Amino acid sequence: MRSPSTRPSPTLDAVVIGAGQAGLSASYHLRRRGLEHVVLDAERAPGGAWQHRWDSLTMDDVHGVADLPDSPAPARGGARANRVIPAWFGEYESAHALPVVRPVRVDRVDSVGELLLVHAGARSWTARTIISATGTWSRPFVPYYPGRETFRGEQLHTVAFPGRDHFRGRRTLVVGGGASAVQLLGEIRPVTDTVWVTRTAPVWRDDLTELDGRAAITRVADRVQQGFPPSSVVSVTGIGLRAQEEQAARLGAYQRRPMFARIEPDGVRWADGSFEPVDVILWATGFRPAIAHLAPLALTSSRGGIRLLTSTRDVQSATTAAADPRVQLVGYGPSASTIGGNRAGRAAAGAVERRVRRRSAVA
Ligand SMILES: Cc1cc2nc3c(=O)[nH]c(=O)nc-3n(C[C@H](O)[C@H](O)[C@H](O)COP(=O)(O)OP(=O)(O)OC[C@H]3O[C@@H](n4cnc5c(N)ncnc54)[C@H](O)[C@@H]3O)c2cc1C
Repeated sequence: MRSPSTRPSPTLDAVVIGAGQAGLSASYHLRRRGLEHVVLDAERAPGGAWQHRWDSLTMDDVHGVADLPDSPAPARGGARANRVIPAWFGEYESAHALPVVRPVRVDRVDSVGELLLVHAGARSWTARTIISATGTWSRPFVPYYPGRETFRGEQLHTVAFPGRDHFRGRRTLVVGGGASAVQLLGEIRPVTDTVWVTRTAPVWRDDLTELDGRAAITRVADRVQQGFPPSSVVSVTGIGLRAQEEQAARLGAYQRRPMFARIEPDGVRWADGSFEPVDVILWATGFRPAIAHLAPLALTSSRGGIRLLTSTRDVQSATTAAADPRVQLVGYGPSASTIGGNRAGRAAAGAVERRVRRRSAVA
């Protein structure tokens, strides 16, 4: 008798990889179109990356979470985002009977003739198409600066932010110009001295019009369509100071300095020779797309990114990999936001349906 892990599975229309906002949207639309699929998710519980956000991030702190198809997003307020959003996702999966299987971490996807073989350890699934919705949280990015390995203090990325008490009385350098840097400075500045450095001057939201926001998303889309690695959409939608950050602002937390030239054992030094001693470096330097499982499909262009086919409609609906139209990427590049993930999920399900119906008409 075969063991369950070696029994051949029926060929699915699609395997969705990842059950965050983008993967849930894709699954909802696949189901509505009557397409056979599973959603493989690496987490033990619903919630995508939201379940791992730091405890102090409340629904009032988030930029704004878009609705899921047929389900309004939870209200703003002081409740913890890492509780409220996972609970909402969990109810959504049940209400729509979405076929989520977890915990399953996909290691790789191989091409076998017309089909795709999705591997997770000893298990595998065969599908006509895949929708990769794996987000970025599992790939925190820390840029290299000379001397980084010589630093005697502590270095950590926002992905592991342990709460403000960890920083009490320890002089902390915060690196990065996005919303995470601003929020975490707001939290820790009242309990410790801080230094803030960013590569470019931050874009304050007061100065940012809706048109600027759309232009920023279009810039990310242009990069992806030329085959470059995407820059972050949420990082270019601007940052603002909220009531919670006023105390930190009064204490001077947002007097930003340009990037230092090197890291030394006890602090950082700028090109002009000036030096700041610090005990902790908090890297608020963002994430990269989690796409290692797609490596066997050789989708990456010579420019280092996965090129997506140009959409004639809105740029967040571009999901199909130019190098292999069996592969859709959602929550990638211009769709790496909750609203983008929603739109891309619908577009990807449409692309899967067109491909599957076309192939069965030919057969
Ligand atoms: C602190 C912070 C705050 C943010 N606030 C906002 C906001 O307010 N509004 C907004 O629009 N955007 C916000 N963003 C961006 C936001 O996280 C994303 O736009 C969106 O939530 C990502 O959804 P997703 O479905 O693409 O990915 P995720 O939510 O990351 O879901 C991906 C899922 O795929 C799984 N996975 C990963 N690799 C594999 C694998 N190999 N096999 C199987 N499963 C895998 C993961 O475990 C996870 O469950 C924020 C980001 C951060 C870091």
